[in-house]
Amino acid sequence: MAPRNAAVTAAAGAARSGCPRCGAPIWRQLVGRRAALMVSADDDPMPLADALPHTGPNRLAWRVRRLHGGGCELHWLHLNSPVPAAVEVVLDHQCPPEDRPPEALW
Ligand SMILES: [Zn+2]
Repeated sequence: MAPRNAAVTAAAGAARSGCPRCGAPIWRQLVGRRAALMVSADDDPMPLADALPHTGPNRLAWRVRRLHGGGCELHWLHLNSPVPAAVEVVLDHQCPPEDRPPEALW
């Protein structure tokens, strides 16, 4: 039976792929259940403290949760409550400047 909506598919976790523009390895996942976003994030987990200086209005950090069977899921990162120091995050993917169209936000 086909999933009722795309949010059901999101439970399968992040899929590794390559950026269609620059070819960099990325994780892609529909994050969220009601107002979901298609996320393309760098395949380079890092501690939150290292990621925060690189975030901004057009570049979010996503929490990485490792799955028992391998792979991972990306989740919203809620900074309104304490975040454990061991949390891994990834950043929204941004293509290198030479691969970005001039009007792109990423
Ligand atoms: Zn890219």
